[in-house]
Amino acid sequence: MKLRTFRIGGVHPEENKLTDDAVTQVAALPKQAIFPLSQHIGAPAKPVVKKGDKVKVGTMIAEAGGFVSAPVYSSVSGTVFKIDTVFDATGYRQPVIIINVEGDEWEETIDRSDKLETLSAHPELTPEEIVERIKVAGVTGMGGAGFPTFIKLCPPPTAKAECVIINGVECEPYITSDYRLMLEHADEILVGLELLMKASKVTKGYIGIEENKPAAIKLLTEKTAGNPNIEIVPLAQKYPQGGEKQLVDAVIRRQVPAPPAIPVNVGAIVQNVGTAYAVYQAVMKRKPLFERYTTVTGKKLKNPGNYLVRMGTPMRDLIDVCGGMPEGDNKVLAGGPMMGKALNNIDVPVCKGTNSITVLTDDDAKRKTPQPCIRCAKCVSACPMGLEPYLLATASSLHDWDRVEKEDITSCIECGSCQFTCPAHRPMLDNIRLGKSTVMGIIRARNAKK
Ligand code: SF4
Ligand code: SF4
Repeated sequence: MKLRTFRIGGVHPEENKLTDDAVTQVAALPKQAIFPLSQHIGAPAKPVVKKGDKVKVGTMIAEAGGFVSAPVYSSVSGTVFKIDTVFDATGYRQPVIIINVEGDEWEETIDRSDKLETLSAHPELTPEEIVERIKVAGVTGMGGAGFPTFIKLCPPPTAKAECVIINGVECEPYITSDYRLMLEHADEILVGLELLMKASKVTKGYIGIEENKPAAIKLLTEKTAGNPNIEIVPLAQKYPQGGEKQLVDAVIRRQVPAPPAIPVNVGAIVQNVGTAYAVYQAVMKRKPLFERYTTVTGKKLKNPGNYLVRMGTPMRDLIDVCGGMPEGDNKVLAGGPMMGKALNNIDVPVCKGTNSITVLTDDDAKRKTPQPCIRCAKCVSACPMGLEPYLLATASSLHDWDRVEKEDITSCIECGSCQFTCPAHRPMLDNIRLGKSTVMGIIRARNAKK
């Protein structure tokens, strides 16, 4: 059978899924937990605690700072040590709340039992109530982007949702946290999908999973057998299939137009499997979002693995659990090697969007010397957004912002496929990222003036 996939571009990086058989372990509590107030797209959250306050696991420590924002909850019990700014993963100062950990006392409102709650047993859950619980619990996209989930469930009047697509693709090399979640919490993910479908007032749901995860495809297919409303869609392996627009194309054969269009403009609401699980916990267990599945991986790590991590835990603690930083030069990424962000400081905490900590060896990370472009057009064939990466990169490096805007740089999803495929090792993504962020700033300023 020919498997579905997206139609434009794509590449096949080496998988390196070193931890797909590693059953998830619970990571130890940190001594001190650090909570950035900006773990999501939108306005930073505003602190509602002060130095010296006592908090429990699940206490709200910062409220949403605007409509597009999300509250932050403590993942530990203890005392607020300080509210300060610290350097984040990319070297910018960020406001944070730091809590000294004492014991492990949870808010009584959280249901900690393993009992599976089903939607049919809770007819009182209206779409509005589901959206409200998701919003209050601070659930944001767990696949990396961090968009507040409740907003996606309330599309603008010009768009109509027809289906929910759960992203179980995990096409980034090395990362296995979503795969383990699908194997270990399939029932909860399916209830999470039903909640998302009810909240969006649609009757069709899909879970897209790449063919390199046959155990997850089999398990979820068995569990949904006889349910005509939910379809498990095996997908051919191709990067970046986990991109929202690529997934929509692969699963329902519709192409999302250029920004500002979003998937719901073609009828789809896309959520990650981790988000579906967080939705289940928020709605059925009244559990705010304060812990997540994270892969800690790398070829030279002694014990790479998958961990259930309380947010706020310093990444250094997790690398230590895996045997510590390997000898020699290493490059540590928050995320995978294609889209992850290089860290200049491993004391930064695990946040809502931290799906992986990847430790690359010098050999894997070292860039080759760039050569002149040979006009081979491989980058054009690889681009899943139908762009001309060589042109965007060159115009960005020349600071020709009018040209890059005209060439649609805002459609770039920063997947790195162009750079990956370039035989001349051109540093295209660096230049394109610079061009994209500059053009986005220019567009924002222009709109503000209007
Ligand atoms: S990084 Fe941007 S330009 Fe390069 S392949 Fe991905 S979408 Fe295309
Ligand atoms: S892949 Fe590299 S060498 Fe080929 S056209 Fe693109 S930038 Fe030039």
